[in-house]
Amino acid sequence: MDHEDTAQRGLEADLRDAVRLEQFELHYQPQVRTSNGQVIGMEALIRWAHPARGLLSPAEFIPVAEKNGLIVPIAEWVLRTACAQNRAWQKAGLPHLKVAVNLSALQFRQTGFVGLVSRILHETGLEPSFLDLEVTKSLVAGTPESMMTRFNELRALGIMLSIDDFGTGYSTFGHFMNFPLDQLKIDRAFVQGLPDNVAAAATARAIVSMGSSLGVRVMALGVENRYQADFLKSIWCEYAQGFFYSKPLPADAFLAWAKKPMPDATAATYDESRKSRLAA
Ligand code: C2E
Ligand code: MG
Repeated sequence: MDHEDTAQRGLEADLRDAVRLEQFELHYQPQVRTSNGQVIGMEALIRWAHPARGLLSPAEFIPVAEKNGLIVPIAEWVLRTACAQNRAWQKAGLPHLKVAVNLSALQFRQTGFVGLVSRILHETGLEPSFLDLEVTKSLVAGTPESMMTRFNELRALGIMLSIDDFGTGYSTFGHFMNFPLDQLKIDRAFVQGLPDNVAAAATARAIVSMGSSLGVRVMALGVENRYQADFLKSIWCEYAQGFFYSKPLPADAFLAWAKKPMPDATAATYDESRKSRLAA
């Protein structure tokens, strides 16, 4: 057995412990309305508080968990925690926000998945319209026709369905024809090229226009600077998420961020003012 195999097995054993001991945390990245910077929701992003290695990003363990099946209990924990946290913030007086959760392919394929979602909403008291499930393109493309109705069942619960990282990879339109879509999230790869890359700009415009024809929301991902934010605003891309607005934050920091009073929404320096106040 080589070194890599041993490391992999070590990680798997640690991950089993992590599930048992609930060594995970959710961070929440704000999502805003581009016109005025107002927060409208947040994406829940998992981190593993590894006892020896510190906080690990999902890229370091989600692929392993998808392979060995541990994603099923992990994903259930994520869904329950995100819904409970969102409900707690609503009760604490925050404006009602949508929480976005990344849907695991393996979890989606489990028997009884729709029932599980419904149960978690019921247990946590979160209204379904405040849950946004992010579906990957590969999940839609890889879902057999017979299972596509499951998406309709989820939608029928009243939750929102989004396609994550739209525009790259498997995003051929045929796959989405029977998908009960509420929102398209423009892949970071395009947003990075804005506003100067002609192909990126054309794609972003095309997705916004497609969203408007379909009557679905469009959100840009990975907005890192003011030029990108201004461009997105100018093409009427209504929602955005990215480091420019805020990095993913631990729950208490998210609450503090979201509670900051909105400065004059017409002020062009809105985000700078928020950042300098945070730094002060
Ligand atoms: P994703 O769903 O595309 O999530 C967005 C990722 O982009 C996050 O990375 C976020 O920190 C990062 N990001 C946000 N804004 C910016 C930006 O302006 N610039 C750049 N360069 N990056 C930005 P993170 O948290 O490391 O998550 C990576 C991926 O792991 C996620 O990609 C998602 O596919 C997966 N993931 C995270 N949490 C979960 C979970 O609870 N369940 C499942 N199944 N997958 C998860
Ligand atoms: Mg996502």
